[in-house]
Amino acid sequence: MDGDSIDFDRIIDKYLYREARTKTVGRYYPSEVGQCIRKSWFSFKMPKQIEPNVTKIFEAGNLLHEFVVEVLKSDKTPEVTLIDSELPLKMKIDEFEISGRIDDIIRLEHNGEKLLVEVKSTKSVDFLREPSEQYMMQLQFYMHATGIHKGVILYVEKNTLKSKSFATNYDPKLAETIISRFRELHLSLKNNSVPHPEARQSSKNRWMCQYCAYKKECDEIETGEK
Ligand code: SF4
Repeated sequence: MDGDSIDFDRIIDKYLYREARTKTVGRYYPSEVGQCIRKSWFSFKMPKQIEPNVTKIFEAGNLLHEFVVEVLKSDKTPEVTLIDSELPLKMKIDEFEISGRIDDIIRLEHNGEKLLVEVKSTKSVDFLREPSEQYMMQLQFYMHATGIHKGVILYVEKNTLKSKSFATNYDPKLAETIISRFRELHLSLKNNSVPHPEARQSSKNRWMCQYCAYKKECDEIETGEK
């Protein structure tokens, strides 16, 4: 077999292949709270296999995070100390549980301040003016759960390792909104009632529908076919 005939793309797909994950009602992830609530609902009711291309993007994000961890814990960067990374977190609210993983906790050595860092990979940071609402909600939830009230969303370009960061403080009102969203999702799942098509109804978030794995099912509800 010569090198040209090896289909590396297929080999990588095989390596990354995982069975579709069935999700349990009552167990939620901070990463889903900023998504369209109807899309989250569908992901519990009709779990779908993640497209190989999307799996690859996730994996590229993990690799990039490993790089950031190396940077943060290196002796060459004494201005920051990495306290923890990939820290599992669980929080019980009412009758459900939210579990996630905090990317990094760091300490700034000039003032001893602790910060949560969420690392996100992106194609380009050039036109990034503000962090995504979804990532911000995730970070606010982690700040709420840990009591560490300062955080940063760190975007890193996949191709160049250029970065841009957005610092934020804990906002108790936003944390309350996030928890209400989890409650809404939980109730709609328990009662088997389809939530409103949140992304479709928002001019800011309508673009999400283009990438939604449940667009067909969602359209069918809207046109009365289902
Ligand atoms: S198509 Fe849009 S509104 Fe419908 S579930 Fe997907 S993201 Fe939400």
